Amino acid sequence: MNEELKIKFWGVRGSYPTPGAGTVKYGGNTACVEIRAGRRTIILDAGTGIIPLGRELVKRTSQEKQPIELLLLFSHLHHDHTQGFPFFVPAYIPNAKLHIFGPGGTPETVKHVLEHNQSAETFPLSLRDMASVKDIESVRESQVIVWDEDGVHFAESGSRSSEDAVVIHIHKSYAHPGGVYIYRIIWHGKSVVYATDTEGYVGMDRRLAAFARNADVLIHDAQYSEEHYRGQLAGFPSTQGYGHSTAAMASEVAASAEAGELVLFHHDPAYTDDLVAAQESTAQKLFPDSHAAYEGLEIKLNADPKGFSGQPDAKFAGESWLKHNLDRK
Ligand SMILES: [Zn+2]
Ligand SMILES: [Zn+2]
Repeated sequence: MNEELKIKFWGVRGSYPTPGAGTVKYGGNTACVEIRAGRRTIILDAGTGIIPLGRELVKRTSQEKQPIELLLLFSHLHHDHTQGFPFFVPAYIPNAKLHIFGPGGTPETVKHVLEHNQSAETFPLSLRDMASVKDIESVRESQVIVWDEDGVHFAESGSRSSEDAVVIHIHKSYAHPGGVYIYRIIWHGKSVVYATDTEGYVGMDRRLAAFARNADVLIHDAQYSEEHYRGQLAGFPSTQGYGHSTAAMASEVAASAEAGELVLFHHDPAYTDDLVAAQESTAQKLFPDSHAAYEGLEIKLNADPKGFSGQPDAKFAGESWLKHNLDRK
C-alpha cells in the first residue's frame, strides 16, 4: 500500500487564467490542487487546472482498472474556483462517483451555482448531462468530512476515526468577500491546510494560525506584493479589502502556526514569473521554508499511521476561540 501523502499543484493562479510567455515557469491555470492519500483522491477547487487533472485521472484509473471516485472541495464559489468544472472529463463518465462539497447558505447552494454555470444560455451541456454519479452538498463549518472504509460521510468534531481514514476539518474565514472555507486534510498523521482567497489582518489572522497549527504544509494565498497591496505600485490601485494576502501575511501565519512548509498560492494574474519569484524571496526572508506554487509542483509527505492526529488546536478553533476571547473582554 502507498504510504505517502502526495500534494500536486495543477493550477496556482488567481482570478483568471494567464497563458503566455511571461508565465511559463509558474503556470497560468486557475486554482486546483490534488491530494492523494493512499488510494483516495481529494481535489481542492475546480479552476482551469482541474481540466488537465481530469484527463490524468481518466488515464490513471483506466490503467489501474479502477472506477473513479473522488472528493472535490470548493473553498468558495467564485468563478476562478469553479470555471474548470464544465470541462472536467471524469464528471461525464457514467460509473464515476463524485462527492462535491463546499460552502453555502442552504444545502443546495453548491448545486445551484454549478447548475447556473451550465445553464442553457451559458454552456451547451447541463449538470444533468454529466453522466457521473454526483453527491453535491453545501456543508457547515462544524461538519467533519471523513473518507474511510465506509465511504465518504460526516462525523462530529473530536470523534474517533479508523487508522486509514482521511479526516477533513473546515474553518470558515470572513477575510474574503462572501467568506471562504479553509480546509485541513489529515491522513496517517500528516496534515495539509489549504487557505486560498484570504486576507491577512493587522497583527495576523490568529484564528487561521490556530487552525493551521503544526500543519506539515500550509498552502496560503499570497496574491500581492506589499507595494501593490498598499497602492504604491505604478498602475495598480491598492488592493486592501479585496480578500487576498501579501507574501508577508502568509509568512506570518506560517511562522505563528509553526507549519512545516509554506506554499504561496493564488498568484496575481498580472504577475510575470519574475514578480512571482520576488514574492518567494520576500516570504523566505520571514519564513525560510517558503516556496511559490507552480504547475506540476509535487510535495510528498511520508505517512505515519501512528503519528500525531493533526487535529486543529481545539482550544482556539472556530467558535470556541471567539467565545474564549469575548468572555475575557
Ligand atoms: Zn480566487
Ligand atoms: Zn474569491
